[in-house]
Amino acid sequence: MERISWDQYFMAQSHLLALRSTCTRLMVGATVVRDKRIIAGGYNGSIAGGEHCTDNGCYVIDHHCVRTIHAEMNALLQCAKFGVPTEGADIYVTHFPCLQCSKAIIQAGIKTVYYASDYKNHPYAAELFEKANVKTEKVELEQTTIDFTQIISPAGIVQESK
Ligand SMILES: [Zn+2]
Ligand SMILES: [Zn+2]
Repeated sequence: MERISWDQYFMAQSHLLALRSTCTRLMVGATVVRDKRIIAGGYNGSIAGGEHCTDNGCYVIDHHCVRTIHAEMNALLQCAKFGVPTEGADIYVTHFPCLQCSKAIIQAGIKTVYYASDYKNHPYAAELFEKANVKTEKVELEQTTIDFTQIISPAGIVQESK
């Protein structure tokens, strides 16, 4: 069994979080990592307790769904809520961040943005990242890395790690 790399592990976590998205327009996941530890995670969704796009349809103004908080924002706000410093941390996102999230990422002191897919990459976001010395790197999720059948036996019991 091949050992999963950190990049693939954190990116897989973001893809897992994306499956929790409640806005069907785009399923996004974000994982904030510091010193190889996951400190927060987020997905595209409404405020806690709010109505979901999946139940009530999107609330679209000027081609954007205004009900949802983006995955990156949710992850950073989780840090704010629990008082976890984001200075010097990295973020793993399923899609290249939008302009608003890009600014928040820079302002939160994130140093590297790893993204799996390009998504309407805004040239101004790229410019801001560069000026702020925030590295952006594409890390595509290798499908083979989340083959859980490798660790789960037919009976569904996770085997002891060696
Ligand atoms: Zn929506
Ligand atoms: Zn965003």
